[in-house]
Amino acid sequence: MSKDFKTMAKIIELPHQYGAGKTYTAFFNGLRAGKIMGTKCPECGKVLVPGRSMCPTCHVACDEWVEVKQKGTIVSWTRTDKDFFGKPCEGTYAAALIRLDGAGCDFLHLVGGNLKKLKSGAKVQAVWNDEKKGHMLDIKYFELV
Ligand SMILES: [Zn+2]
Repeated sequence: MSKDFKTMAKIIELPHQYGAGKTYTAFFNGLRAGKIMGTKCPECGKVLVPGRSMCPTCHVACDEWVEVKQKGTIVSWTRTDKDFFGKPCEGTYAAALIRLDGAGCDFLHLVGGNLKKLKSGAKVQAVWNDEKKGHMLDIKYFELV
């Protein structure tokens, strides 16, 4: 079929809410209190951040909550200077997998501030928004230290 008609761009909005569940609600409540919380697996001892109800390795329930440090090490990252729909912050930023001190898995978040020394292995620390809402972006970003 040939393209006989002009196409017109339109953004379709689909407002919705979903239940975060018991475990993520507890994680987000921790963020609101300025804490990064994970759950500890009773089998392997890994601390999972964000907290999870079940260890993905051992397949056992994780009920013990543990606060991890607000600093860690960049494991992997990607950087963007481009604007795009849904961009989570202004300006240049990086998204990184961060191994927080005390955690047994990597935590995906933004890296902001001066990115000149951005590299795997770099140390970072959390920078919090002044107003916390129980949201992932209560941590504004992680900055290189
Ligand atoms: Zn485990």
